[in-house]
Amino acid sequence: MHRIYNFSAGPAILPESVLEEASQGVIEIGGSGMSVLEVSHRGKHYDAIHQETRETLLRLFGLSGDDYSLMFIQGGASMQFAMVPFNFLDNGKTGDYVVAGEWGSKALKEAKKIGRGAANEAATSADKNFSYIPKALRQTAGASFLHVTTNNTIEGTELFDLPDTKETPLVADVSSDFLALDRDHSKFSLLYAGAQKNAGPAGVTIVAARKSFLAQANEGVPSMLAYKTYADSDSLYNTPPVFAIYVVGLVGKWVEAQGGLAAIEKKNRTKAALLYSAIDELSDVFFGTVTAPEDRSLMNVTFRLQPKYADLEKEFVSEAAKRGLDGLKGHRAVGGFRASIYNAFPLDGVEALVAYMREFAAAKG
Ligand code: PMP
Repeated sequence: MHRIYNFSAGPAILPESVLEEASQGVIEIGGSGMSVLEVSHRGKHYDAIHQETRETLLRLFGLSGDDYSLMFIQGGASMQFAMVPFNFLDNGKTGDYVVAGEWGSKALKEAKKIGRGAANEAATSADKNFSYIPKALRQTAGASFLHVTTNNTIEGTELFDLPDTKETPLVADVSSDFLALDRDHSKFSLLYAGAQKNAGPAGVTIVAARKSFLAQANEGVPSMLAYKTYADSDSLYNTPPVFAIYVVGLVGKWVEAQGGLAAIEKKNRTKAALLYSAIDELSDVFFGTVTAPEDRSLMNVTFRLQPKYADLEKEFVSEAAKRGLDGLKGHRAVGGFRASIYNAFPLDGVEALVAYMREFAAAKG
């Protein structure tokens, strides 16, 4: 099979070696005579996968299982928008939200629906179409948590310096830069990520939460929405998404084989720098949509054609697809182009895009 360069935002490109290993696992797992799709979630074959995936992720985060619970939950990152306030917002309490993009805005909206406690917009960059990360925060004294989105998948900004929240627990949606930066993960009281970008297939959400933070969660939350249920049962209260967790484990081991988060971050920086410098250099034809250069995402590179060429956007995308550069159309909410270059995206794919941009600019500019 000839693999194209897949710039999709998620589900997204996965390492080829992981796909090969997973396809073997679909036939037979660990000499069991069964497919990974067939084994019991309470049997020894799956148990080994479950424990190994959990331990690999904690190791990559640099977190100890004594201090943090690592959970596998279904419902996507979108369900976390509800689970966070269900568990941590209560009457008389406030959740602070930094709204730096569509997804952060959705998280705040869900918190407002819970009908308990208050949800406060601590900062927003909506004034400039989320083209930068707001830095000054209006934090509530004694807030239950401060929620941030570390990478704004749609708008192409990334939060490189986590805010110093003092005593307030930091809660983060890390869906689209999961395992992409060598962050100090102990700054998070709770992080969550839908798997289908950097971690594996859709169907599982990875959640890591500090045990002392989980101890503060509300009582009386329905079982499937209570973090306690997952933490107390090692995410085996009901049937977990076995296949998705299996692939996340393979991706985690692939990240370790690449040299871990520091090595992955270095590669991600090289790829992104190459693309951003081409956008800046070819500024007669292209421009980057993020107004604050220091906030430019390493994962989702958003750019457009200069207004005088705006009607050529469709042509740019369709011609790119003919060259095996797929998925470059920007999110339907913002238009333009988006090149998602997650961990598994190869440098030569970025080089191929840059070569195409140069040709396009030379022909039009
Ligand atoms: N948060 C972010 C940052 C995302 O990029 C996405 C998905 N694109 C979501 C949340 C929603 O994730 P899910 O589809 O898993 O609910």
